[in-house]
Amino acid sequence: MRYYVLDRGDDLSVELSRQFQKLASERGMQLDADNPEIVVSIGGDGTMLHAFHMFIDRISSLAFVGVHTGHLGFYADWKADELPLLVDYMSGTGKNPNKPRIVRYPLLELEIHKKTGSSAHIALNEFTLKGVDGTVVIQVDINDVTFEMFRGDGLCLSTPSGSTAYNKSLGGAMVHPSIEALQIAEIASINNRVFRTMGSPLLLPKHHHCDIFSRKEQRLMLTVDHLNIPVDDLVSVRCQVSSQQVSFARYRPFPFWNRVRESFLV
Ligand code: NAP
Ligand code: MN
Repeated sequence: MRYYVLDRGDDLSVELSRQFQKLASERGMQLDADNPEIVVSIGGDGTMLHAFHMFIDRISSLAFVGVHTGHLGFYADWKADELPLLVDYMSGTGKNPNKPRIVRYPLLELEIHKKTGSSAHIALNEFTLKGVDGTVVIQVDINDVTFEMFRGDGLCLSTPSGSTAYNKSLGGAMVHPSIEALQIAEIASINNRVFRTMGSPLLLPKHHHCDIFSRKEQRLMLTVDHLNIPVDDLVSVRCQVSSQQVSFARYRPFPFWNRVRESFLV
């Protein structure tokens, strides 16, 4: 079993990462930064986002496991004191060998077109577009038909597993990750006699796409998960459910709605 482990950098996470590597090598697992089968993230959701983007080029050939050390850890299944149990499961040895169930979650695919060039990105949580100097003016097309002209702070397009993050703060729905969809939520739209937007969050299914066109000279901040991309010459952004998915290795069940309840209610 080839693995890689990534930590948040705080004392506890660094120490746990050391412990994990020691236990793993005792169980015959190999640390492999180039071609791991499992990537273990020790920290919080921010750490999982880092891990995801670090291995973005090979997400189809590996699975993630999260260990949380305080903070929220929505993507994490394991607590700090459970490391030996996790290593048992992962190595297939010791008291508790277990084959994981691989669960796959949908991702969001983006093409950013600027006057000066284009780039492609994939988000695990969400893509947001926000104004830097004030109100953004953007046109939103769905499946090549103009849907609305948006004025306000910005838009958030989230994946189902990202629907519990920024999207939730915007009044978006929590979406079960077995539903292959992307959600569009508004960030403080201007609505009055003159300007009108839909106001409700929208869910687009797979095979639909959404284009966002910049409709004035404006400095924008685009975000892809925890990454910020300042852009002052945006032409458009194409957003759709990605053909790729992210895999998580589950050594024991942790259903999405339990995860939601434990993260937000109990
Ligand atoms: P951060 O500011 O530490 O993250 C904000 C919070 O979102 C943290 O509590 C984080 O958990 C949690 N979180 C991340 N992904 C989540 C998910 N899928 N479901 C539920 N909660 C989640 O920054 P970060 O750790 O680098 O994470 C970046 C994310 O922060 C962005 O992708 C965005 O979703 C979120 N964010 C939220 C708001 C808002 O709600 N107003 C504003 C900006 C960004 P951990 O403590 O475990 O890291
Ligand atoms: Mn964080």
